[in-house]
Amino acid sequence: MEIKNVVVAGSGVLGAQIAFQVAFKRFNVTVYDINDAVLGQAKVKMAGLETTYQAEIHNAKAQFTQSTANLNYNTNLLPGLNNTVTAAIQQSEHAVDSTLARITYTSDLKKAVSDADLVIEAIPEVVTIKQSFYQQLAPLAPKKTIFATNSSTLVPSQFAAETGRPERFLALHFANEIWKNNTAEIMGHKTTDPQVFAQIIAFAKAIGMIPIPVQKEQPGYILNSILVPFLDAAEMLYLDGIGDPEIIDKTWMLATGAPQGPFGILDVVGIVTAYNIIQNYAATTGNHKYDELASLLKTNFIDKGKLGVSSGEGFYTY
Ligand code: NAD
Repeated sequence: MEIKNVVVAGSGVLGAQIAFQVAFKRFNVTVYDINDAVLGQAKVKMAGLETTYQAEIHNAKAQFTQSTANLNYNTNLLPGLNNTVTAAIQQSEHAVDSTLARITYTSDLKKAVSDADLVIEAIPEVVTIKQSFYQQLAPLAPKKTIFATNSSTLVPSQFAAETGRPERFLALHFANEIWKNNTAEIMGHKTTDPQVFAQIIAFAKAIGMIPIPVQKEQPGYILNSILVPFLDAAEMLYLDGIGDPEIIDKTWMLATGAPQGPFGILDVVGIVTAYNIIQNYAATTGNHKYDELASLLKTNFIDKGKLGVSSGEGFYTY
């Protein structure tokens, strides 16, 4: 079965990026979210992403022009290079200009999935919300539909029963700022059909991602098995009053040469998702420090509308 029609459920930080990238690569995309007000915000995010993609392509073009000028390359030795790259840039320019026209929006789940080949779920990192979403989705989607979760730290077997089609269910996990951080971690559970796994690997390539097959279920895959403990450690330093976000970020960046510190990363991730992950850890580990951290994020940031880059303020102002 060929994948043509893709539904992205959840149009928040990651859902919007996934929807835009998939439509950019010329698939039909339907964005589903809980109500029309949220979908209105999604449209604003999509317009912002269009500008980002245009700027990225413009920069790539400028870099290419500059590097060919610097190289003064021998056109006899590299025939057609200029034409090939110019054609690729033009293709991307056309693709981005037509992306928004390939995206439709609805808060009616039945309508959204009526002819879906693939549903990519990017709704909050809360077990009960995801479980009830899959229970609702299961009877509405055609038999052909593959379900994929973009969960950061939960594993597919936590929802496989609720999907009603465990063999057509797996995780497809994207990184934030998908247009440049283009990994797609693909992870099944015990009864995911290997053909479905292979199909999603091919789909990931078709949407411009580098597929990373994860061989066993692992909360956090590869990326977040490393990133989440790193972010937790920084947040605990802040909670314990060892240093403020700026000094912690500065230490990390100056000492390692990293372009961003943990709190800069947390602002990109979004404070709500960071909070949900901490809450899940509080519940599963029983470690009261996670409760304290969750309460700090809620009181000092979420309740004040400081949600990170998406709201213009988090640990930093944008
Ligand atoms: P977010 O809070 O920015 O967005 C969540 C969206 O889901 C909102 O638009 C909300 O209205 C919608 N939603 C809530 N309940 C819903 C339901 N029942 N049906 C449909 N939509 C619903 O969250 P996010 O950061 O985009 O994270 C979404 C998922 O992606 C989470 O599982 C998260 O772990 C994962 N993820 C996030 C990042 C990141 O950097 N933020 C990276 C990779 C994966």
